[in-house]
Amino acid sequence: MALSRRRFLSLSAGTLAAAAAAKLAFTRSASAARPTIDPGTDGRIVSSICEVCFWKCGIDAHVQGDRLIKITGNPRHPLSNGRLCPRGAAGVGLGYDPDRLVKPLMRVGARGRDEFRPVSWDEALGFVANKLDEIRKKYGPEAVALFNHGAGASWFKHLLSAYGTANFGAPSFAQCRGPRDVAFDLTFGAEPGSPEVLDIGSSDCLVLIGSHLGENMHNTQVQDFAEAVARGADIIVVDPRFSTAASKAKTWMPIRPGTDTALLLAWIHVIVGEQRYNRAYVEKYVSGLEELAKAVAPYSPEWASAETGLDATLIRGTARRIAGAAPASLVHPGRHATWYGPDDTHRSRAIAILNALLGSWGHRGGFFRPSGMKLAKFPTPPYPKARPPADRLEGEAPFALEPLAQGLRRATIDGKPYPIKGWFVYGTNLIQALPQRAETLKAIQALDLMVVVDVLPAEIAGYADVVLPEASYLERYDDLVGISWRRSGVALRQPAMPPPGEAKAGWWIARELGLRLGLESFFPWKDAESYLRERCKLSGVDWDTLVRDGVVLAPEKPTVVEDGLALSIGTESGKIEVYSEKLAKAGFAPVPVYERPDAAPPGYFRLLYGRAPGHTFGRTTNNRLLGELSHHDRVWINAKVAADLGLADGAWVRLINQDGVQSAPVQIRATERIRGDCVYMVHGWGHTAKGLRYAKGRGADDSELVSRVKVDPVMGGTGMRVNFVTLQPAAREA
Ligand code: SF4
Repeated sequence: MALSRRRFLSLSAGTLAAAAAAKLAFTRSASAARPTIDPGTDGRIVSSICEVCFWKCGIDAHVQGDRLIKITGNPRHPLSNGRLCPRGAAGVGLGYDPDRLVKPLMRVGARGRDEFRPVSWDEALGFVANKLDEIRKKYGPEAVALFNHGAGASWFKHLLSAYGTANFGAPSFAQCRGPRDVAFDLTFGAEPGSPEVLDIGSSDCLVLIGSHLGENMHNTQVQDFAEAVARGADIIVVDPRFSTAASKAKTWMPIRPGTDTALLLAWIHVIVGEQRYNRAYVEKYVSGLEELAKAVAPYSPEWASAETGLDATLIRGTARRIAGAAPASLVHPGRHATWYGPDDTHRSRAIAILNALLGSWGHRGGFFRPSGMKLAKFPTPPYPKARPPADRLEGEAPFALEPLAQGLRRATIDGKPYPIKGWFVYGTNLIQALPQRAETLKAIQALDLMVVVDVLPAEIAGYADVVLPEASYLERYDDLVGISWRRSGVALRQPAMPPPGEAKAGWWIARELGLRLGLESFFPWKDAESYLRERCKLSGVDWDTLVRDGVVLAPEKPTVVEDGLALSIGTESGKIEVYSEKLAKAGFAPVPVYERPDAAPPGYFRLLYGRAPGHTFGRTTNNRLLGELSHHDRVWINAKVAADLGLADGAWVRLINQDGVQSAPVQIRATERIRGDCVYMVHGWGHTAKGLRYAKGRGADDSELVSRVKVDPVMGGTGMRVNFVTLQPAAREA
């Protein structure tokens, strides 16, 4: 049954289970923001944490008996402020997804045929433990790798650290935020954080470079963005596409894709050359200004104009506007930064350097500096010493902060520097999350053991030897989650409803495997609740308050200089390093350099991809509540270009990339809101897994078209916007 927007809103307002809701009355108490329940009903509110994206907002799950009625924002949690994005509110749709994994499964037939038989937990866990034991004896424990996403992975990291491996690869590093984190670490000695510690609400000038807030729906960041818009902040959006953020901006700069670093260098050129930087701040905190000035001298706005396709006067004028608002002037660091490979760390370094020149790091309207909250660990024996991860060969990507997921894949294929024979895949659909799919499939076929722990049968589950059905974030405890935000603290994920069928919490699965592997000393707790209670006790956090409120906040501390923060810089030199000795010593350019992107072959368009507000990539596309509301599976193409190709808005096409890889048929969106040299699509559609009965066959999958990457030699990120597609008219498939 299709859901209209009005009907969905009405559902999320509490009529999802109308009959049940009739008996239930959730109200707000007058004295506190905490919702209360009418006495005499069996309704209750469980305060927990959303896991639909990494923002980890506080949620209030409204429950009657065992039934989850609706989810609202926890008003006590600083990362939600009582509000949620549509995906968080629609978490009910995941809880009751009829396609959930509900029984352990073991493969029958060839790997990858997506054919399984249901088995007992005992059989599944016994099989996995035996195989892990075999691999440990034959190759050593380091021959097992974990690919992971999400907070629940901590149980499996603990299990596999105790087992003896350090091969933990999260695609969220080398396929997403890695270049940015490395660049900020090199410059400020600290990363921008996750969630990013941006004081957008107080910014007088905000620059977004390919970072489309509003479509990229990070709850409090979007709330802050709305505040900045309402305050009349000077918003400058740099994007080949007229994004939602661009529609709120004073200036949209439709840049030629791949030339962002040229623009950034020209902005630095103007700000340094015209001495518009924050002089007092730079004198106090920054080192390397002279070298920077020398390096950017050639990069005039006129030079950048030829590269970017932007007007030189606009480049100069925006540089002056950005500098004029300092220090409440913020160049957003973005999040997904693996675009062009060799250019990526340099581009993110240029963003970091601009912020240094503005003095926004540590100032109101810039980057605030949270104090965090210290949480004690649960006492367990030290982990055995593990071999260094197998993701890199000697000398490769020296500044990587985390193991490279694609490097672990390579080690699985070629056995260098040592073999990887077992994969644990937790909460990430590697088929869509990793580029160069053929390599992923090759690696999977080389394994002795492949285990998938997940809540839904995405494509990756079809390749597993064993599929272990996990309770969703609405049905389980996870480890404590520290909040590093304007107000720091600790938050609790706790079950609000029972898991379906035989699905089990991750902590239970990890512990059961640990016991079977003889690792009981690492699991001296009987269940997650006793583990969490002990951690709270050791950390001085009141358990009952945490359970009741979902969050316990630390005492308020200043997070910006204006409020009394004593700003310290975390680099070894204690200075913000706009010229990086570390990079120079390792043979890399110490000041950002620009590399012109490859031109598209004739008749091809650069493939760009991004997000939609109603979805977190492939994680939500099977959620009926969200899917009926927002498809976002059309390919954007410039209207004039589409007309020249004889394609009307809504026409069906296949995308074919430079290597001949073809997408499923997909409709075009012919629009003036995108340049003519690129096309754009939302990542996460085009599922083929037969178990995703709702998402299967909807839209096209951008990731299968990413058959090429360019690797960032500084930190090993895979630049993925280096693929080109052409469009071929197609019939709509039934
Ligand atoms: S931003 Fe949305 S999806 Fe992400 S954690 Fe918050 S409510 Fe959940």
